[in-house]
Amino acid sequence: MVDRRLVKIPGPTPVVDSIRVEMGREIQAFGDPRFVKDFKEVIDDLHEMFGCDGKTFVVAGTGTLAMEMAIANSTKKGDNVLIISHGFFGDRFIEICERKGLNVDVLKSEWGKTIPLSEIEAKLKEKQYAVMTVSHVDTSTSVVADVAAIGAMMKNFPETLYIVDGVCSSAAQYENLAEMNIDILFTGTQKAFGVCPGLLMLWANQKAMKRREELGTIPEYYCDYYKWLPTMEDPAKYFATPAVNLIWALQESIRLIKEEGGLKVRYERHLKNAKSVQKALLAMGFTLLAEEGCRAVTLTNAIYPEGVDDLEFRKALMAEGMIVAPGLASYMGKLFRLGHMGNVDINDEVVALGIIERALAKFGKLPKPGCGVGAYLEEMTK
Ligand SMILES: *Cc1c(COP(=O)(O)O)cnc(C)c1O
Repeated sequence: MVDRRLVKIPGPTPVVDSIRVEMGREIQAFGDPRFVKDFKEVIDDLHEMFGCDGKTFVVAGTGTLAMEMAIANSTKKGDNVLIISHGFFGDRFIEICERKGLNVDVLKSEWGKTIPLSEIEAKLKEKQYAVMTVSHVDTSTSVVADVAAIGAMMKNFPETLYIVDGVCSSAAQYENLAEMNIDILFTGTQKAFGVCPGLLMLWANQKAMKRREELGTIPEYYCDYYKWLPTMEDPAKYFATPAVNLIWALQESIRLIKEEGGLKVRYERHLKNAKSVQKALLAMGFTLLAEEGCRAVTLTNAIYPEGVDDLEFRKALMAEGMIVAPGLASYMGKLFRLGHMGNVDINDEVVALGIIERALAKFGKLPKPGCGVGAYLEEMTK
């Protein structure tokens, strides 16, 4: 029991058996026609699923490399960038951009809230920005940004590329480049795709590819679109060794998305599950960091009731066979972060909420046995 720990952090998320099997397969040469066909299928599927009219990249590396890749291929030293930050991962763009010698302006929200659209619009009018970045879901706050509304507004600023960090949202919260006017979107395999960590996916539309062209030679090497483009167009071509087994694992995860009924069904599943988990946490006496109206479907940040010690609480969860993530920055010790994205089902959540109930009971803080699980099931069976 102690060996088996339910992974309820916001990534890596649980990896189901059929995906694990792909990770353990005997290796194939990256030039083997069988693998080339699989790799091509993955790129083509992703391209179509997210409404990309430009190029789709699948590269070994994590979400952070994708952040760097997006900036590297759309800016040059001295450019103005606007960072919309709803927390820790929004802030991560600051250092990435500063190291590249960009002029950085940041709009920061109070944690748990979003920046109003009018404020973003007013800032964009101040000067010409080469790019603007927005994290769709900031994992430090579990706040979701209104990426569609921002995208519609961005039509008035055609010189500014709209970059969306989908690391904690893609394949769980609705995203589509064409429909949302997003120029660059990226994610990692270990979050809502439910694959082991190690691959990034990045979508760049035609406008973003045009910007890349205008930049000429860029200082970055490994994350230069142009280094990868020949491989993405014909996966038989070598630039750097593809992560063969991870690509198979991603292929299986895409197959599972299709089997589930496609992305739309998957978005709805995440929404209903998140609402239910959030009701359960409230019923148990937690408060939620993210305000109503901007709560993510992929994770929830639950603030402890008075008298529950963070370390002791998470230790109690661990003893019961589950691991969650601690709060970040000033919320360290005040909340825990519960992931509920990817290939998880109702049974996983019932177990997780049951464990949280038992841990709360140890502190004498559980209002009533079953109150969390009950609230969850009530909402789920509506
Ligand atoms: C996890 C995460 C990242 C960083 O991804 P890594 O794979 O850990 O490098 C970036 N942005 C968001 C929103 C994330 O949740």
